Amino acid sequence: MKIERPRGTRDFLPEEMEKRRAVEKKLREIVESYGYREVATPTFEHSELFKIKSGEGIVEEMYVFEDKSGRELALRPELTAPIMRFFVNDCSSLPRPIRFYYFGNCFRYERPQKGRYREFWQFGVELIGSDSYLADAEVISLADKMLKSLNIEYELHIGHVGILRSALSLLGDKASKVMRLIDKRDEEGLESYLNELGVEEDLKDKIKAIMNLKGGREIIEDAKRITDYNFHYIEKLLDIIDSLGIKYTLNLGVARGLDYYTGIVFEFYAKDLGAQKQICGGGSYELAQLFGGVRTPATGFAIGFDRVCELIEAKTKRKAVIVVVYFKGFEKIAFEVAEDLRNSGFIVVVDVMERNLKKQLSYANDINADFALIVGEEEIRKEEFSVKDLRSGEQISIPKEDLTTFLHVRLKR
Ligand code: ATP
Ligand code: MG
Repeated sequence: MKIERPRGTRDFLPEEMEKRRAVEKKLREIVESYGYREVATPTFEHSELFKIKSGEGIVEEMYVFEDKSGRELALRPELTAPIMRFFVNDCSSLPRPIRFYYFGNCFRYERPQKGRYREFWQFGVELIGSDSYLADAEVISLADKMLKSLNIEYELHIGHVGILRSALSLLGDKASKVMRLIDKRDEEGLESYLNELGVEEDLKDKIKAIMNLKGGREIIEDAKRITDYNFHYIEKLLDIIDSLGIKYTLNLGVARGLDYYTGIVFEFYAKDLGAQKQICGGGSYELAQLFGGVRTPATGFAIGFDRVCELIEAKTKRKAVIVVVYFKGFEKIAFEVAEDLRNSGFIVVVDVMERNLKKQLSYANDINADFALIVGEEEIRKEEFSVKDLRSGEQISIPKEDLTTFLHVRLKR
């Protein structure tokens, strides 16, 4: 019986994994250079963790199940709520601010398509304990640096949910659904929901005007004509972002899908990804008090690791591979030689199929190995190895003691 892989999940071949690990490595280097340190949390949590504040959109997409003791658990749809739970329970006495980063799989029951999966990976950071614009400036510039390092073409949009939320304050708990419709850019849905709520034309116009305010810094002047919101915080933040030479669009329509954002929000969009163009999202939020802790400001972002990887050409340099081929009866020596070479830092493969020399050599060619090292009676007697450079085809005899030096020199060519 053939068993299919679950819908919306993927298997990864070695080439793909090598590329993903290379991207992961680069991202780790950058976040660590900013003083962030990695944390990990469980793959599943009590489902209420996500129900408290992540918002309806996320809850509808969640994988929820009951364990054998009747607990309601959920596969994590994101990592910010788990990290804030961890912070409240175990890390709240660490010196502030706390700089955490994570790389982990997330699960959402979505309609699968390119760039949208039911299991996907997020690489993100949380900067916990500061309510200053400087904290937002740090995470935005960090996200920008990470994406830049991957040579991706993207746009950065910065907004502030405070402006929309203050306009929506009259709507009470209905505001979060309105925010969600704005996030999804569902203009028809928004119109009919606002009508359903009996929102007056004036307010409707104001909401639509704010969500369409988009452009350079100069739109702050337009915004000030629509709302009496204080833009001081945003201006100070943009001063820093400008001084770092980071390009952005100020976009007051950025609403974010998750409900817990309170202040600055931002999204990075890649060109050419269509509906799946959002490659990173973040902002400042307050979750600690909802999980039983003291009110603590925090800011962070999550990069959609899979979407980012799909934008990058596979160009990881593969390490050289040596195949030890041997005549029948020389298995022990072949295994020993291979082990010595591995200890000298090479990738070494030995036949485990009891094949003849010719078949071993043709396998070495098939897997694109760089060298074949021949082990047989003559080699042992003369204390030298025949090395076949599979890239050029030439075959050379090398004294045993010169072998590793020879391989190292050859590989540098
Ligand atoms: P979208 O609007 O595309 O559904 P989102 O607002 O739900 O994204 P976030 O919750 O902000 O996304 O998650 C952070 C990042 O994780 C996104 O910017 C995106 O790149 C990535 N992401 C979200 N959902 C998926 C998914 N189902 N498959 C792959 N990547 C995803
Ligand atoms: Mg989504």
